Amino acid sequence: MNSQTVVDRLIDLFNKHGSSQYGGEAVTQAEHGLQAATHARKLGLAPCQVAAALLHDIGHLLHHFPDDAPSKGIDDQHEELGAAWLEKYFKPEVVEAVRMHVSAKRYLCSREPDYFESLSQPSVLSLKLQGGPMNESECGQFEKHRFFREAVALRKLDELAKDPLFKTPEVEDFKPELEAALLETKGNRP
Ligand code: FE
Repeated sequence: MNSQTVVDRLIDLFNKHGSSQYGGEAVTQAEHGLQAATHARKLGLAPCQVAAALLHDIGHLLHHFPDDAPSKGIDDQHEELGAAWLEKYFKPEVVEAVRMHVSAKRYLCSREPDYFESLSQPSVLSLKLQGGPMNESECGQFEKHRFFREAVALRKLDELAKDPLFKTPEVEDFKPELEAALLETKGNRP
């Protein structure tokens, strides 16, 4: 796929499949990604971080588990599924932040007690399936990762992006950030 095709395919995924509920939250999958990306923009984060925020749960749009998988005891591993799809087209800082956004929740629950208090009920439920808070040695390993900061920043946006009243632009509005986040291979250049 060339850059236009990748970006259009993602926009299509949001528009056609984004209306499913975001795992027990009061927002849809599309609203959740759009809210995370809008918060990233408002904070003045880099285009790759805005793109990662928009795409962090794309794995949920690529699999066929039910919306309420965690309440049935299923960890859908959407972060791995999303990263595996994205890594063919997007820069590592996007891909790795997406891959690590669940681990970042486990990290923050261990390092920042207030963060655990901020989690929604569905997020507390999925935390258990994802392995619970990290222990000391897991936290130490996580902090050494090249994209540790990006992953933690993304995770904080994730928690902000569950507000049914928060207004965002349409997904098409994020084309510039998506294009800036693509790998600079010949086929991806606009
Ligand atoms: Fe999320």
